[in-house]
Amino acid sequence: MFERLLQWVFPDECVGCGMRGALLCAGCLAAAPPYTDPMPCLGAHQVFIRYEYIDTIRAALLLLKYCGKRRIAQAFADALVSMLPTTYAAVIALPAAPLRISQRGYDQAVLVAQAVARRLGVRYGSGLFRTRDTTAQAHLTRAQRAANVAGAFGWQGAVPNGRVLLVDDICTTGATLREAIHALHAAGIQDVDVAVIARGKTN
Ligand SMILES: [Zn+2]
Repeated sequence: MFERLLQWVFPDECVGCGMRGALLCAGCLAAAPPYTDPMPCLGAHQVFIRYEYIDTIRAALLLLKYCGKRRIAQAFADALVSMLPTTYAAVIALPAAPLRISQRGYDQAVLVAQAVARRLGVRYGSGLFRTRDTTAQAHLTRAQRAANVAGAFGWQGAVPNGRVLLVDDICTTGATLREAIHALHAAGIQDVDVAVIARGKTN
C-alpha cells in the first residue's frame, strides 16, 4: 500500500529516456549496446554477458547497486533469461563482500539471481559464500586481482544435481568469477554456466 502510494506521488522514471512507469524501460533495454567481444572462458561451460557497461546500463546498475532501486533487478533478470539456451538445476549468485552487504542492506547480485531463478522456475541456491573479505579491485592490475581473490570462496550445503547458473552484475577481468567457479568445482559442482549483466573495460 505504502509502495503504491509512493509510486503515485513519485512515479518511476526510466534512467535512460525519462519515460514514466519503469526505472529502466523495455525500449532502453532493447536499445542498449550488447556485449560483443569474445566471452571470457573463466573455467565455465558457457559464459553469457549481456551488455557493455556504458550509458543507460551503467546508470541503471549504479541505481541498483548504490541507490536502493531493487526493482531494476527484475528488468536485468529478464534481459539475462532472454540469452539463456537452457534451464538449470539451480541459480546461484556471486555474493558481494559482507561489508558491502551490511552497508547497502542487500546484495544486488542475489536480487538478480533470485529474479532469474523465479523466471526460470528453478531453485535459487545460496551455498556459495565468501571465506574472507577482499579489498576493492578497481585500482588493481589483472595479476593483483587474481591474487586478491585467491581462495576467497567456499560452498556449503547439498550439491545441485545438474548444471548451475552463476549470476553476477558486473565483471571486468573476471578474476572474481573465475575464483568462485574454482570453488564450485572443488565442491563437486562441475557443470557451471555464468550470466553477467555487463562487462566493464579493464584498466
Ligand atoms: Zn527508457
